[in-house]
Amino acid sequence: MAFCQVIVDIAHEDVDRVFTYRVPGNMSLCPGMRVHVPFGRMRQVEGIVVEMVEACDLPPERVRDVADVLEDYPAILPNLLELAVKIKASSFCTLAQALRLMFPAQMRGERVSNKTREIAVLTVEPSVRAQVIAAQGRAPKRAAVLTALMEAEGGEMACDELRKRLGECRAPLAALCRMGFVRVEKREVLRSPYGAMERLAQQDPTLTAQQQDVLGTLLPAVESGRGAFLLYGVTGSGKTEVFIRAVRRCAQLGRTAIVLVPEIALTPQMVMWFRSRFGEDAAVLHSRLSPGERYDEWRRIRRGDVRVVIGARSAIFAPLEDVGLIIIDEEHEQSYIADNTPRYDARELARLRCGQEGAVLLLASATPSMRSFAMAGRGDLTLLEMPRRVNQRPMPDVHVVDMREELRQGNRSVFSGALLTGLQNCMEQGKQAILFVNRRGYSTFVSCRNCGYVVSCTQCDVSMTYHSSENVLRCHYCGQEAPVPQVCPECGSRYIKYFGVGTQRVEEEVRRHMPDVPVLRMDNDTTRTKDAHADLIARFRRGDARILVGTQMIAKGLDFPNVTMVGIIAADAMLRLPDYRSAERTFQLLTQVAGRAGRADCPGEVFLQTYDPEHYAVEAASRQDYRAFFEQEMVRRRRALYPPYTLIARLLFEADREEDAQLAAESAMRQMEAFFERRTYLRKYVVALRVMPCPVKRIKGKSRWQVTLKIVDQPVCQEAVGKMSEIAQMPREGCLCVCQVNPSSMM
Ligand code: ADP
Ligand code: ZN
Ligand code: ZN
Repeated sequence: MAFCQVIVDIAHEDVDRVFTYRVPGNMSLCPGMRVHVPFGRMRQVEGIVVEMVEACDLPPERVRDVADVLEDYPAILPNLLELAVKIKASSFCTLAQALRLMFPAQMRGERVSNKTREIAVLTVEPSVRAQVIAAQGRAPKRAAVLTALMEAEGGEMACDELRKRLGECRAPLAALCRMGFVRVEKREVLRSPYGAMERLAQQDPTLTAQQQDVLGTLLPAVESGRGAFLLYGVTGSGKTEVFIRAVRRCAQLGRTAIVLVPEIALTPQMVMWFRSRFGEDAAVLHSRLSPGERYDEWRRIRRGDVRVVIGARSAIFAPLEDVGLIIIDEEHEQSYIADNTPRYDARELARLRCGQEGAVLLLASATPSMRSFAMAGRGDLTLLEMPRRVNQRPMPDVHVVDMREELRQGNRSVFSGALLTGLQNCMEQGKQAILFVNRRGYSTFVSCRNCGYVVSCTQCDVSMTYHSSENVLRCHYCGQEAPVPQVCPECGSRYIKYFGVGTQRVEEEVRRHMPDVPVLRMDNDTTRTKDAHADLIARFRRGDARILVGTQMIAKGLDFPNVTMVGIIAADAMLRLPDYRSAERTFQLLTQVAGRAGRADCPGEVFLQTYDPEHYAVEAASRQDYRAFFEQEMVRRRRALYPPYTLIARLLFEADREEDAQLAAESAMRQMEAFFERRTYLRKYVVALRVMPCPVKRIKGKSRWQVTLKIVDQPVCQEAVGKMSEIAQMPREGCLCVCQVNPSSMM
């Protein structure tokens, strides 16, 4: 008698354990297969077999049979099953929730079906075909069908194709089938999402010396299946080509590879390059695929038809076998962290998966995260460097423009004199320009346009946030409040204001100064529809517009050969956001945006407008000097006890009624205090433990409160995080609670 242990697809803690079922004699099962099982009073629910067992000590009448099998192969590979168990442990979700990450959502509840097509196949021996056709003399339609099939490749053709050519032919086809001359088969077709994909040069470029050096270290590692690397390569140093060669080596060894990109819709070029070099061997898991396309890509991967999968963070769960290499491009991006349950960091999972499979991990960025660079410093990652651009292309020339000076000279427009002149020169030379507007940080903090002073919290080293409804400034970390100043406390100027300009405003200004120059705008408003983003990029690349005005979206990985000038309208808009990572994000963004200039044969020029030219993040970005930034930022992190020196965890409470959220948060706070009360060995590591409303007090009609914990990053302190997640899991009426560790947003 065979039994199996099943996790039912119900995300509730009460059923977060395995249930035993009997395997009917005619059914063959293995771990990872999806099944239907009866559950409680429900006739059938979906479940996943996690283990096969020989015996079962429950009384036979209490064990029920597996009802049926959903697919005849395991939807979840053994390694991914194991990964789900680890996710459950580290992100404090149920196993059912972790397992849902492993296959397309559409497969649950059988919401997609395989698409099939009817194919007519000629079954007549070639030697007698002419004879058979001639014999259809009184039925010309039948003869026509036979002729068409005979001429078609492989002697077969899709029935709808036949109908298109010959008109309605159901009856003659049926007759030919009865006579045994033709057979009609149902065949599965895979929906291809690559219809209109632009193809680039398929030739291999000659590697640069830098690329050769890096590959000299990387390829042997790929061959041995061991190693974890951080590739720090400046913008335009040719990292993509390194990825392609490493993936190819991996494929030559018969193994597979995963390439993660921050957001696939924003990196169409990476996809294009891989598709043009790997063709059908590359699969793309795209957030904008239709459910059917997503399901088909997933199956193509699962069947072993592809060598490399490119996708955003969830592609880390791609059902590939024998993975030999995982690449994470732009590894500093926040989008690798999934904030909602199940919370996971794709970079951490990549590390785990590499360990399981014996694969090489390659993180890459022009602006590595503080964490990864610190790991490289400790030797936990091997640092590979590409400090120069391809073919001696110079790094762009960055002009820092002090906007306080502009104001003193009476210029109150969004463009400095220098930027405007630069833009005009660029247009005269027939080139293209990008104007970047940092939308994050729009109108949220108060700064002086005369001296650059920003109202900051006296205790937290972050700017205070303006709350227009109450007309007050508040610190989002400690809750301290301050009135909005009428004059600048530093210099007495009255030009102290809420900060920020939008893309629309910039576009208008461009049109005012240069009415004849075609401009495109790329922001949330202009990219609502499915293909708007790719479409705008294609139009700008074709040269339909000379100037592209855009937000964050244009900062990532885009390579426009004709762009020689980049203007950054307000470099420091993000610097004073109430987040300890503001300086890091600002540096990353400025460096990435500046890197868009001068990528082909013409040198690039960047105008970086700022009210804070002396800030180390702005200053280091203007020199594209990552190391200088890293060192200063680490000093600040240590002094202020921020990650990577500490970790920040929070319990987030959401409820319809504010009192419910508040009461739940306050009760959790008391539990945490009691917890530390009993643990003196942990208490000494606590930097701060607080309860307060969230910075954004209401989202989608829910009131939000939080308990935040800042604690030194020591292994023992995981216990405190464990306690928080335990509290998060406790049942409570009318209030949701999640536990987040170093959340990507503290809002
Ligand atoms: P990064 O990702 O490091 O910013 P890319 O991979 O986008 O840089 O490469 C920058 C540009 O250099 C691209 O246009 C790419 O086609 C080109 N390139 C890369 N490697 C080579 C090479 N070996 N020879 C010629 N051009 C190259
Ligand atoms: Zn001032
Ligand atoms: Zn504060």
